[in-house]
Amino acid sequence: MMHKTAEEQTEHGQLPAVEADNLTIHFRMRGGDTVKAADDVCFRIRPGETFGIIGESGSGKSTVGRALVGLLNPTSGAIRYQGQDVASMSRKAFRDIRRNYQIIFQDPHAALNPRMTILQSLQEPLTIAGQGTTDERRRIAYEALERSGLPAVIGSRYPHELSGGQKQRVNIARALTVRPQFIVCDEVVAALDVSVRGSILNLFAELQEEYGLTYAFITHDISVVAHISHRVSVMYLGRMVEMGPTGPVTEKPLHPYTHALLSAEPQPLPSELRQDRERVRLSGEIPSPIAPPSGCRFRTRCPAAQTLCGEKTPEMKELLPDHWVACHFATPDGPPDGS
Ligand code: ADP
Ligand code: MG
Repeated sequence: MMHKTAEEQTEHGQLPAVEADNLTIHFRMRGGDTVKAADDVCFRIRPGETFGIIGESGSGKSTVGRALVGLLNPTSGAIRYQGQDVASMSRKAFRDIRRNYQIIFQDPHAALNPRMTILQSLQEPLTIAGQGTTDERRRIAYEALERSGLPAVIGSRYPHELSGGQKQRVNIARALTVRPQFIVCDEVVAALDVSVRGSILNLFAELQEEYGLTYAFITHDISVVAHISHRVSVMYLGRMVEMGPTGPVTEKPLHPYTHALLSAEPQPLPSELRQDRERVRLSGEIPSPIAPPSGCRFRTRCPAAQTLCGEKTPEMKELLPDHWVACHFATPDGPPDGS
């Protein structure tokens, strides 16, 4: 693979905090099948931004998220941290920076050890990293608890004594103790009561401001991503189909899939997002990632598909400033006729 010059890697004079470069992740199954979970995914997450990743269940969002923090190795392509290819780092170099890159999952309970007090759980990552004295670790744990909006008494409790929202705050606190630069948030409010989602999303936003954090925010819920992200990317069956600033992508999508996804959205959107949007139903099931359709993977469900769509994989094109779309027939004015 060709090496990029520093200039090519730089945007707005800064290296991307995290970059996926033709990221491809295939799972070889025992029967010999290959699940194409992610193919040729490219994006650069800017320092301090929240980069949303949306798409239906099974589109490859979590696979990409896990690869971003080194929990999965790319089948091909690369992950870069501030311009440096993770695969080229020595084991020691990776261990040293690993804690800068954290992930928080959907199920707030699963991530906590039921036999540990909250304080013990909070100190665990620091203990594993061999960081500080016992007193220092306690202080950092209490500080993270406080920053996550929880009272100190929570420290002596066990996970089963906490509500879902409190547990997710503990998980956030746990990620914070190691002072990360980048956090993948994978469906972090999906399991929570609608009534507490807003306050958890606000906490993420506050912490970003305070610590200059960079987020990859994965969700199937467009209202969540629109609320928190600076830019949004859309995945369909392992491929990225659209990427751009949140406003344009969620209010005036250019890819037929994004268009359909948004108009099928059952959650109440702010009224300005709903104007003039006809409801388009996504018909049919998402095809199998073991044998995805040739050419454009969305073509089997696309109301505007033509012969070319089965023959040629559409490349991402910058149809509007910073707004990229992988569709042969999309224009800056909108998705192709029929969609
Ligand atoms: P999403 O998070 O968008 O719902 P995932 O990244 O979890 O999607 O999954 C993408 C596809 O890869 C799915 O078809 C899923 O079944 C498959 N997949 C994910 N992890 C594995 C794995 N470890 N082994 C085999 N297939 C997997
Ligand atoms: Mg997922």
